Amino acid sequence: MLKISVIYIFVHLCIRQILTTMKIIAIGRNYIDHAKELNNPVPESPVIFMKPDTAILKDNKDFYYPDFSKDIHFECELVVRICNEGKHVSPKFAHKYYDAIGLGIDFTARDIQSKHKEKGLPWELAKAFDHSAVVSNLLPKEDFSDLKNINFSLKKNGAVVQNGNTKDMIFDIDSLIVYISRFITLRKGDLIYTGTPAGVGPIEIGDRLEGYIGDQEMFVTNIK
Ligand code: MG
Repeated sequence: MLKISVIYIFVHLCIRQILTTMKIIAIGRNYIDHAKELNNPVPESPVIFMKPDTAILKDNKDFYYPDFSKDIHFECELVVRICNEGKHVSPKFAHKYYDAIGLGIDFTARDIQSKHKEKGLPWELAKAFDHSAVVSNLLPKEDFSDLKNINFSLKKNGAVVQNGNTKDMIFDIDSLIVYISRFITLRKGDLIYTGTPAGVGPIEIGDRLEGYIGDQEMFVTNIK
């Protein structure tokens, strides 16, 4: 009996550890067309920001429009899951540090972000708020024949609003892992949101967002 209790507590602690220590690292301006649509310069190195684990919204749960913003935008992005602890990862081995690919939305309070950008302040309140990181189920990366040619898209109320392909990333997945891990240790379970293509726009209560990789529906998010 005691043995079972000890095992139970150990498993419980392990699960809690896994659930509470993951982080989300997100990339800004990783597609030239999107950098241009927001009048931002094309970056020479990746633009990095983070979201806490409380930002995660999964299992097709509804997104509730928050009261602190009047201009929440969708940004559909390919999501990569880290599978090994990595610090100063070399380009040759970067591919060993991720094992799964999904699709998500980096919800952004554009009104707050614009104000903060003007003042040169950090973006966190515009990017890291609760449920700002929609994520689909993840697919093993072996399911993809070419990681540098993955098509993805977002539909809003049935109409395609964003269409991207990983070949248009300014910094590809391996380069992102090399760059980020110079500064921040990557851990198993962390997610990287790899940036959004052009076509970002506002959401309203009642909207329905559907994300696709190729023809496969990856998530549905209803705005409440
Ligand atoms: Mg984004």
